[in-house]
Amino acid sequence: MTDVDVLSSRMKSRLHLQTKTIGAERIKKAKDNNEDIAVLSMFLPNASAVEENRNFYCQLGDYCRLGDPRASKAGTKKMEYKTRQWHENCFCCCVCKTAIGTKSFIPREQEIYCAGCYEEKFATRCIKCNKVITSGGVTYKNEPWHRECFTCTHCNITLAGQRFTSRDEKPYCAECFGELFAKRCTACVKPITGIGGTRFISFEDRHWHHDCFVCASCKASLVGRGFITDGPDILCPDCAKQKLM
Ligand SMILES: [Zn+2]
Ligand SMILES: [Zn+2]
Ligand SMILES: [Zn+2]
Ligand SMILES: [Zn+2]
Ligand SMILES: [Zn+2]
Ligand SMILES: [Zn+2]
Repeated sequence: MTDVDVLSSRMKSRLHLQTKTIGAERIKKAKDNNEDIAVLSMFLPNASAVEENRNFYCQLGDYCRLGDPRASKAGTKKMEYKTRQWHENCFCCCVCKTAIGTKSFIPREQEIYCAGCYEEKFATRCIKCNKVITSGGVTYKNEPWHRECFTCTHCNITLAGQRFTSRDEKPYCAECFGELFAKRCTACVKPITGIGGTRFISFEDRHWHHDCFVCASCKASLVGRGFITDGPDILCPDCAKQKLM
């Protein structure tokens, strides 16, 4: 026998021992702490594992991919998650049936999902484009939207984080809402939005911006003063008197 052979056989037995120790400890630690991890280990041939192997029952039951939920042949890999156990290949997504292997999974109620199927089934979808919202969506009228999908009904500018107003259950940016629906100033015909605390004056069914409420003749401000209406115009008392005389 050469030195090399002795060394490799020693290495082998040591490695085997290590695998067993780490596996058992990991499983115990996971159980004790109720850790949210799945532990992959191997059925061991040792006498010490007999009890453990006897208690094994693959969670797929009748659907066990090895055909026997109690199969515990030495060398077969098993997966343990919290209090439940599977054969390695039986630990699979409940929707697409793909073995989870080393990929991440999401447990929900008693089922195991791969990330893709979980997203497909449970993720929040945008009410406008129907695609999954992975992060930072917005809610409007209790419905979820992508930030980029939540736009002004009229000009399509994004409304997330902006001031907007609703009309007939539809959102509009402040500018479009003003253009489309707001009261208009009798003098300048621009909308009176009320946004930013714009003050305005109303008389009968006419409205004016504060700055537009001036005498048609001398252009003096009529805010807080008496005025006389003359057809479409408003006049200060002095100009009205002159006009009448
Ligand atoms: Zn199985
Ligand atoms: Zn899946
Ligand atoms: Zn969308
Ligand atoms: Zn707009
Ligand atoms: Zn005006
Ligand atoms: Zn005047």
